[in-house]
Parts: sequence; C-alpha cells; structure tokens
Amino acid sequence: MERMISGIKPTGKVTLGNYLGAIKQFIKYQDDYELLVFIADLHALTLPINRDELEENTENLAAIYIASGLDPKKVKLFKQSDIYGHTELSWLLTCNTVLGEFTKMPQYKNYVENHKNEGVPTGMLLYPSLMSADILLYDVDYVPVGEDQQSHIDLCRDMAEKFNKKYPNTLKLPKSILAKTGAKIMSLSNPTKKMSKSESDKGTIYILDDIEISKKKIMKAVTDSEDKVYYDPINKPGISNLLTIYSCLSGEDIKVIEDRYKDVINYGVFKKDLCSLLEKELLPIQEKVSHLKESGRLDYILYEGKNYANIYSQSKLNKIYKEVGLRSKNWDK
Ligand code: ATP
Ligand code: MG
Repeated sequence: MERMISGIKPTGKVTLGNYLGAIKQFIKYQDDYELLVFIADLHALTLPINRDELEENTENLAAIYIASGLDPKKVKLFKQSDIYGHTELSWLLTCNTVLGEFTKMPQYKNYVENHKNEGVPTGMLLYPSLMSADILLYDVDYVPVGEDQQSHIDLCRDMAEKFNKKYPNTLKLPKSILAKTGAKIMSLSNPTKKMSKSESDKGTIYILDDIEISKKKIMKAVTDSEDKVYYDPINKPGISNLLTIYSCLSGEDIKVIEDRYKDVINYGVFKKDLCSLLEKELLPIQEKVSHLKESGRLDYILYEGKNYANIYSQSKLNKIYKEVGLRSKNWDK
C-alpha cells in the first residue's frame, strides 16, 4: 500500500477550510493508502501562542479528526512533538539548504511584507525545513495539500534531491495531491482571501462554534448584486466560494447545483439551503467531539500512533545518521 502523510497546526480553532480542504480528504484516502496524520504542534510555535490555548487546540484537533471519520484502526494519528526525529531531521535538512531557498517561499515573503516594522520570527523562515522533515522521515509517496502548501512540497522535493546528491538514496521524494474541489476555501467576508484559522473571525467558520453563529456568517457572506447563482471565481468570488462549499458538503458537482438554483432571484434561498447542509454536517461532529473528550479515548489513540511513528522514524533516522557520519555504519550490529 502506498503511504501518505499530512498534518494540521493547532494554531487556532479548526476552520471549515481545514475541514473541507484537508480533513475530509484524509477520510477519503484512509481506505486506499497507509495514512499517517499528525498534529503539527511544533509548527504551531512558529508564531507566539499561549500554552493553554495550544493544549486546548491540540485536544480539539485530535477530537475533530476522529469525530469527522478518521478511523484510528486504519490511520496512525500522533502528535509531532512526541516524535523527536522531526526536529532532528529538520536540522540536517536546514544545514544542507541555502538561505535563498527559504527566503523565496511565498508565505515567508507575505509575512515579511505584512510586518514591515516588526522583527520576523526565525521560525517563520525555517518552518518549511521542519515540514520537509515531517514528510521525509516516513518515506511517504504522497502528501495531500491545499493550494497554499504547494510551494513547500516543491521545496521538500528539492531538499531531498540535494540531500540525496550528497548522501545517495537516503530520502524518498514525495508527490503532492491537490483536492479537486475545496483546495482553497475563501473567507466569507473577503472572498479573495483564504479562510484561515489565524486570521479574521468574521469570514471564518469554525467547526466547533455554535452552529447559529456559523449560519449567520453564511447569511452575511459577501456576494454581488447580480442575484444569479453561477460559478465565476474572477467576477463572482463570493458566490463561487459558497458554491464550492456547497459542493464539498453535498458531494454534488457544481454544475448540478447551478442548475438547481438557476431560476432563483435572490441569494437568500441558496444561502439558507447552504446553512442547512452545514448544520447537517457539523452537528453530529460536534456531538462526537464532546463524547470523545469525556471518554479519555483520545489519549490512547495518540499513544498508539506515537508508538508506531517512533519505531518507524527511529529506524529511518538511524539510517540517515549513518550516511551522514553521525553514527558508525556498524552502530547497531
Ligand atoms: P494558519 O492560518 O495558522 O496557517 P490554516 O487554516 O492555514 O492556519 P494550516 O494548519 O496551515 O491551517 O493547514 C492545515 C491544512 O488545511 C493544510 O493541508 C492546508 O492546505 C489546509 N487548508 C488551510 N486552509 C484552507 C482553506 N482555506 N481551504 C482549503 N484547505 C485549507
Ligand atoms: Mg496555513
């Protein structure tokens, strides 16, 4: 079975973007791939975060993964910080990469551009190296990502190639898989910007928020004045984003949805139906999350995942250390 890995940072409350662009995709993949899913808690430290918030976000994220349908019998779910190999390999990769590779990353450039008069946290520059280590430590074949992460996967492949030039056949080059629909859910208040957990509240739907709050956000979502429901992300980014969300939730093709609403003369009807779909999707998840958190099952699931990831990554790191010269080739013979 081919292997796949992905993670989400516990930086804030899990959003509908994370759910549709990442979590729901993982659930589709769990039957066909050996799937490793981790909570990227070390990545969450890239920008300052309060300790209690980090702990709470981590627990909620683990619960949302399972409540959404990840089956812990099939998927290995673990916390990144439980596995020391991630930071160790990250250092080896960093030392083998020139600074310009990091400074050219779009997310780094955006950050610098938007924080001109502030210091830039070094983690902001170097986290693509940690992300590459997350992937390369497990010899994965595929990484499912949203559009925002594509440049980091390209960098990961470049890093692995460069590393292999120096230490032949050490690292396996991964490929990215982009979701067809839902790869980029936009903010409801500014549909030209990505919905993301570390930014504006108004345009973001959070999975565990009271559903009435989320419904209000949909009803108030920025659209246009044409009052016609069809997909045109350039001229109608708001409605196109809502159509994408609708399609991800209902599993229907966007064309089918356009056809359903072709005679509708205001967006209210379409938005109300979208609210019902969202409610139907999120309420059962919210209920399962509360049960899981009370049951203590999450600790056990994370413990099992940690054991698996530890064994695999330790053996991989051993091989790498031997190639690099940090360990004798006869070390464990
Ligand atoms: P942050 O603002 O802290 O970066 P984020 O919401 O972008 O938070 P990440 O932890 O960076 O979340 O990403 C987790 C996963 O969710 C990744 O696979 C990413 O591609 C996906 N993802 C994030 N935002 C969206 C979105 N708006 N639409 C689709 N997928 C998304
Ligand atoms: Mg992000």
